[in-house]
Amino acid sequence: MRSLYGKFLSFTTGIMLTSTIIAFLIVNTYYHQQLKGQNDAKNMDIALAIADYIEKEKPSDLASYFRTQAATGYKLFIVNENRKASMYGTPFRVENLRTASVEQVLDGQLYHGMRDLETETFMTGFFSDQLANTVGVPFTYNGEAYALFMRPNIKMLFTEVHFLLGGMVVVMAIVSLLSMLIVAKKLIEPITKLTAAAKKVGDEKFTGTLDIHRRDEIGQLAQSFQRMTEKLSENDRMRKEFISDVSHDFQSPLLNIKGYANLLMDSELPEQERQSYAKVIHSETERLSSLTKQLLLLTSLDQLESPLKPSKFRLDEQLKEVIRKQRWLLEEKQMSLVMELDESEIIGDPAFLEKVWENLLSNALKYTDAGGEIDIRLTDGTDKVKVTIQDNGAGIAAQHLSRLFDRFYRVDHSRTQEVEGTGLGLSIVHQVVKLHEGRVEIDSEEEVGTAFTVTLPKL
Ligand code: ADP
Repeated sequence: MRSLYGKFLSFTTGIMLTSTIIAFLIVNTYYHQQLKGQNDAKNMDIALAIADYIEKEKPSDLASYFRTQAATGYKLFIVNENRKASMYGTPFRVENLRTASVEQVLDGQLYHGMRDLETETFMTGFFSDQLANTVGVPFTYNGEAYALFMRPNIKMLFTEVHFLLGGMVVVMAIVSLLSMLIVAKKLIEPITKLTAAAKKVGDEKFTGTLDIHRRDEIGQLAQSFQRMTEKLSENDRMRKEFISDVSHDFQSPLLNIKGYANLLMDSELPEQERQSYAKVIHSETERLSSLTKQLLLLTSLDQLESPLKPSKFRLDEQLKEVIRKQRWLLEEKQMSLVMELDESEIIGDPAFLEKVWENLLSNALKYTDAGGEIDIRLTDGTDKVKVTIQDNGAGIAAQHLSRLFDRFYRVDHSRTQEVEGTGLGLSIVHQVVKLHEGRVEIDSEEEVGTAFTVTLPKL
């Protein structure tokens, strides 16, 4: 695997090289299209001016005149009628001027070597120190024909400014490359930290905080990652707690069943005791069965995809049916019931909502002493309905209210310690109401009573 840093490095150098090549090609095309001709014309003008000066002014010492010209930054190559050549300025690197070109100039024509030199494809041809890469003009001196070939002495003309500009480009390239490397390192550093943190989370180690404090996208990613880790850690804690609660809640009835089953094995056990032990086993089995049912229900509510199968139904009728099913308990505990139900039709999952009313009503019954009173109200609004189930029972102390919907959370009421329960009922209520996009409110006071109010949207 190539590291991100390595990739960044090769991309940066790649981009710099490619841009240099592209820039070179563009400048090259410009040189061939425009500069080459212009350069030739410019030098041709100078050569013609020199020839013109010689013809008009007839300098007494031609060689000395040429030497002066060479000293100003030119290379000059002179051929006389007898094909005798002389050179002024530093010699050419390649002396490749064709005889035909010399003859052509001696014949009175111009030579455009700087424009027409074929061999040089690139603009570096401009710098090419060849005799063929010159302009040529004819002139006469003392009645004799001459050919003058010349081009600028690039080395001599390459001044400090050119060195400064060249140096600037090189320094710029080095500085930008180095700063890119530092920036890349800074950018990649948090990613490395995130990778290490992700690895830790993968190994189920949720401790530690990420030391990344930035406001950019990476900072946001780090924040989201931190939040995700906290959530995962919380879920992990809840999962472990849940497993331990479930094991504990299964363990105690199973131990009871085992113990009483052992006792039942005694063949000499009096009939009355056998009956009472069998009853315990029966009730413990019931408890396990209801625990399993509630757990299954909760699991189905936890699915990512909502398990609700909504339909339109009469809520008041459903509530009456739930009350009817538990009426025997009301009578057994000699409790009175006040019921005020508006006619109301809602869209929701009737089977799950039935569990909500069943749980709330059975709690009201469980946690209220015999002879108490339960008040059930259904208020029909325009877009929502409100169901309140109120009792005048044990009530719940304020410190428990925030955890009441937690799975397996139970309150030890001094008065009702013997009451059976799993601590799952209210979690189911909460979950079902949440899936219906409604809410549950609790209003409770110890020794005074409790009111659970469920608000549901009608559609
Ligand atoms: P449980 O199976 O214990 O009834 P729930 O989840 O239904 O479990 O309720 C959680 C706890 O909330 C109960 O243990 C009980 O202490 C308290 N609670 C629920 N409803 C009432 C109520 N109407 N009056 C007093 N306490 C209640």
